[in-house]
Order: sequence, then structure tokens, then C-alpha cells
Amino acid sequence: MNDFNNFCTCKDLECPFHPTKHNKGCSLCIQKNLKKKEIPSCFFNIVKNEEIIEGYSFYDFAKLVIEDNK
Ligand code: SF4
Repeated sequence: MNDFNNFCTCKDLECPFHPTKHNKGCSLCIQKNLKKKEIPSCFFNIVKNEEIIEGYSFYDFAKLVIEDNK
């Protein structure tokens, strides 16, 4: 457990990169997302509830933001 748990809204507590699983904050999550060309779930959670997210690609995020602004 560390201070990064205070703002991470990711609900995937089974993910080994979740800040509750280590003391490296967001580093491992960001590293994974950069490698997969994806956006971290905390950004999606600002726009919409995580349950309705179809995927985490740049396109999925852009689509969600555009749909949210209609
Ligand atoms: S980047 Fe990842 S670890 Fe950091 S707050 Fe967002 S979802 Fe959580």
C-alpha cells in the first residue's frame, strides 16, 4: 500500500501493475499501456463508468470522449 492508492480509480485489483500490488506507483501501469498503445483506465473513468468500456485503445478513448460531448 502507498500514497498512489489515493487517486487510482482502476477497479482491476487483480492486475499485477495496480498500485496496490507494489510500491512503484503508476510506473508499471504506464509502462504496460505505452507498450500496448493503450490509455490507462483512470482516464476512461473520468469520462465514463469503467463497466461500459469496450477497450483501452487510443481509438476507444477518443470515441468515448467524442460520444460524451455530443
Ligand atoms: S496510470 Fe494506472 S496506476 Fe496510475 S492512476 Fe491511472 S490506472 Fe491507476
